[in-house]
Amino acid sequence: MKNGRVTLLGAGPGDPELLTLLGKRRLQEADVVLYDRLVDPSLLAFTSDQARLINVGKYPHHHRVKQGQINQFLVQYAKQGQRVVRLKAGDPYVFGRGGEEAQALAKQGINFEVIPGITSAIAGLGAVGIPITHRDYASSFHVITGHHKKDGHQLDWSNIAHQEGTLVFLMGMAELPTICQQLITNGKDPATPAAVVQWATQWRQRMVTADLKTITEAVNQHHIGAPALIVIGPVVKLSAELWIPRPLAGIHLLVPNSRGHRLYNALTDLGATADFYVRAPKVGQPVEIKHLDHYSTILVDSSAAFDFFTQQLVKSGDDLRTLAGKNIVAKNSVVARMLAKRGVIANQVLPAKLPGATLELGSEHPLFNGAFLDLYHKGPVRSHLPFNLAEFNAVVFPSNDSLADFISALDEQQQDQLQDLCAFTMGDSIKQAALEAGFHDVISCPPKIAATVSAVKRRFSDD
Ligand code: SAH
Repeated sequence: MKNGRVTLLGAGPGDPELLTLLGKRRLQEADVVLYDRLVDPSLLAFTSDQARLINVGKYPHHHRVKQGQINQFLVQYAKQGQRVVRLKAGDPYVFGRGGEEAQALAKQGINFEVIPGITSAIAGLGAVGIPITHRDYASSFHVITGHHKKDGHQLDWSNIAHQEGTLVFLMGMAELPTICQQLITNGKDPATPAAVVQWATQWRQRMVTADLKTITEAVNQHHIGAPALIVIGPVVKLSAELWIPRPLAGIHLLVPNSRGHRLYNALTDLGATADFYVRAPKVGQPVEIKHLDHYSTILVDSSAAFDFFTQQLVKSGDDLRTLAGKNIVAKNSVVARMLAKRGVIANQVLPAKLPGATLELGSEHPLFNGAFLDLYHKGPVRSHLPFNLAEFNAVVFPSNDSLADFISALDEQQQDQLQDLCAFTMGDSIKQAALEAGFHDVISCPPKIAATVSAVKRRFSDD
């Protein structure tokens, strides 16, 4: 039996792009992933189709899976020879009981490793313009838990209150009044700047600032709860100068995980948070390519059809040179661009007169009544969308295909949520299909990334 391994993997503070490169690779390689409540579910998109995904998310006062049980899972799967990833928020060794999990593994002689993550204790402050140290304001920082084992030791409040550096409390929201009270009683100036940052680096990130004496009241007033960081120290003041929210900050979008992620990059660079919906896999099917010399025109429906066609050609001992001299017609300008990337310049784009005998390369539905090579079909989408659609502002559809994939991944409840979700369709033909699928609020934009990003900005940004 092959040797199993457990990776305690830090997922970073929330934004999925803040995962390490090694972390991404381990997710791709994993047989089993056990993940927490605070971990962004879109990270799971890196896993393979075969990986088993287990949510061991723990809610406050409601342990979904007990820690002992998690440790047992880790040991059990590793002993079966599986590559197990224990995906944890932030850094695995900053609170969150990573140390205990490692001890359980070491005790059982399990092969394990720890891959660091960016901790919310530092990056969560940076996300709102608070540098945790600064030569003028703080020459140390102290990361403290606000939550204690019932029988655990008490904090040395006098020591903590006398530190000049930045104080950061994690898991402290339930104890916020006590924390502030203890610090003041033990000598900290009640006018010390204080901030609470909730859901740092995510679309729902919120912050309030006040001072040590008034922060509890401010938090109650703005209904800010866990998970949050409590920050105390003069560096908090720098937020006013250093935090420059981007135009789409706080906007939560769903985009397809295809087309080189250019849409994703353009939207997230403006501060939006984007999660992916999964596209249905395209499964090639063997076709016999005969009598190519009968056809003077090749009509290409999609770049995928062209790729599967090329593969089949090569399998049968031929290559693209057999297309020499033929008239190549692309279904639309997007397909023409994709063909150019593959070294083929289309002679025409539809609508065009198709001269002579035509062979169409496509999938399932021919555009014309003629010779048709059905090169692939779409497999089922891997799983339901792991999202509550009420938490999104909008979803973007670059094609009818992407709309169909999205709809096929919805469960009944998500289907009902469509009427309250805004849809951006990149092309007028998709708008009608979106309305028919159950969307009420559909914005149609030209099929270009820049035009779509402008439309999103017009809808959601104040500037
Ligand atoms: N290992 C994690 C911390 C786990 S303890 C890390 O390194 O970040 C869980 C606590 O972390 C939460 O109660 C909260 O105080 C803090 N936390 C984690 N992610 C957060 C986020 N995105 N925004 C605010 N606080 C966060």
